Amino acid sequence: MALYRNVLKMSSYQLKRSIASLSALSETHQMLQKTCRDFADGELKPIAGKIDKEHFYPKEQIKKMGELGLLAVTVPEELNGTGLDYLAYAIAMEEISRGCASAGVIMSVNNSLFLGPILEWGTPEQKDKFIKPFTGGDRVGCFALSEPGNGSDAGAASTTASLQGDRFILNGTKSWITNGYESEAAVVFATTDKTLKHKGISAVIVPKPIKGLELGKKEDKLGIRGSSTCNLIFDNCSVPKENLLGQPGFGFKIAMMALDAGRIGIAGQALGIAQAALEVAAEYSSKRLAFGKPIVKLQMIQNKLADMALRLESARLLTWRAAWLKDNHKPYTKEAAMAKLAASEAATFVSHQCIQILGGMGYVSDMPAERFYRDARITEIYEGTSEIQRLVIAGSLIKELGL
Ligand SMILES: Cc1cc2nc3c(=O)[nH]c(=O)nc-3n(C[C@H](O)[C@H](O)[C@H](O)COP(=O)(O)OP(=O)(O)OC[C@H]3O[C@@H](n4cnc5c(N)ncnc54)[C@H](O)[C@@H]3O)c2cc1C
Repeated sequence: MALYRNVLKMSSYQLKRSIASLSALSETHQMLQKTCRDFADGELKPIAGKIDKEHFYPKEQIKKMGELGLLAVTVPEELNGTGLDYLAYAIAMEEISRGCASAGVIMSVNNSLFLGPILEWGTPEQKDKFIKPFTGGDRVGCFALSEPGNGSDAGAASTTASLQGDRFILNGTKSWITNGYESEAAVVFATTDKTLKHKGISAVIVPKPIKGLELGKKEDKLGIRGSSTCNLIFDNCSVPKENLLGQPGFGFKIAMMALDAGRIGIAGQALGIAQAALEVAAEYSSKRLAFGKPIVKLQMIQNKLADMALRLESARLLTWRAAWLKDNHKPYTKEAAMAKLAASEAATFVSHQCIQILGGMGYVSDMPAERFYRDARITEIYEGTSEIQRLVIAGSLIKELGL
C-alpha cells in the first residue's frame, strides 16, 4: 500500500481531454484554458489537501489569480477587468476548481455574484468604487441573499433597509455568506417595503468592515473548507443612499439575474471537481494490480470510467452552451439551470465512483478522492438546490410549450 501512495504522489499523469472538446474552442479560450490549467497544477493542486485540512484561505494564490485576471474575467478592461466572455469564465472556473474547489468558489462569488450585478446595474461612481479595486485579487466581495429563515424562498427576505434621510439603515441577519470573513464589500438584499413582498426587496452595496455589521462564527463545512462562510449580522448599520444598486424594489430581479449567471460558474466548478476525480480514478486504475493485472483492464472498471466520462462531457457541453447563449445575448435561464444541475450531479457521481475505483485508498485523506466527494456535494446546494434547478427548468419548459 505504501508503494502505491508514493507512486501515485509522484506521478504526473493527466487524462487527455477529447480532441472534439478542445477543437471547439477559439485560440483565446484554449490559451486561457492552458494558463489556468498550468496555474492549477503548479500552485493549487499541491496545496489543495492542506487548504482543506487546515481550513485556510489561500490568500497568496487568490492574489496570483487576480494578477492573471481571473477575479474579473468578464469585467471590461477600462474597469481593470480581463474583458473576456462567459465561456472564458466557465473554462477558467473549471480549470481552477480542478486544482482546488475552494479557490473556485472564492473566484466565482467575486466574479458573478459581487462584480456581476454592480457591472450590470451600478452607477459610474459605484463601478469606480466597487469594481475597480476588486479585480486584482487584493480585495474580494460577497453576495448576501440567504437568511436563516429563507434560502430557496429568497423572496421572503426579512432583513430591512429603511431610508432615513439620506442613509439606509440595515437590520437583520444574512446567512451562509461565502467570503464573509475576507470580503471588503457586500451586495446585500434587504426589504425596503415589506408590503410589496419580493417586489419590495432592494440591493444595497455595503463596504466592510463597517459599524453595525458583525460577522457570525466561521461555519465548519463538509467541503470547500478554504472558503469562509458566515452570517452577516446587521444592527442599525448605516450606508449612504447612493449605495442603492438599481432602483428601489429591483433587488429580487438583480439577485435572480446574478444567480442565472452564477450558475454557469458553479457548473464550471462542478466540472473541475469531476475532471479531477476522473483523472485520479483513471490513473490509479492503470497502476493498481488485482488478480495479476491493472484493474483498468477489468471491464467493470472500464464501465465506470465510461459512465464518468459520459456524464462529465455531457455536462461540459451544457455548460458551454449556456455560456454561449449568454455571450450572444439570448435567453439562458433554463440552460444555466440545466448546466448547473447536470454538472453538479455529474460531480457527485464521478467523485463517488472515483472513491469506488480507489477502494480503501478512496476513503482516506492520503488521496484526494474523499475531498472531491465532499467538495462536490455543495454544488448541488448553493446558488439554488437541485430541486430549485428542476423547478426553473420545468417552469421554462411549461412556458415554452404554452401549457
Ligand atoms: C457553503 C455554502 C455557501 C453559501 N454561500 C452563499 C452566499 O455566498 N450567499 C448567499 O446568499 N447564500 C449562500 N448560501 C446559501 C445557499 O444558497 C442556500 O443554502 C440554498 O439556496 C438552500 O437554501 P436553504 O439552505 O435555506 O434550504 P431550504 O430552502 O430550507 O431547502 C431545504 C430543502 O427543501 C427543498 N426545497 C425548498 N423549496 C422547495 C421547493 N419549492 N420545491 C422542492 N423542494 C424545495 C430544497 O431543495 C432543499 O432540499 C450558501 C450555502 C452554503 C451551504
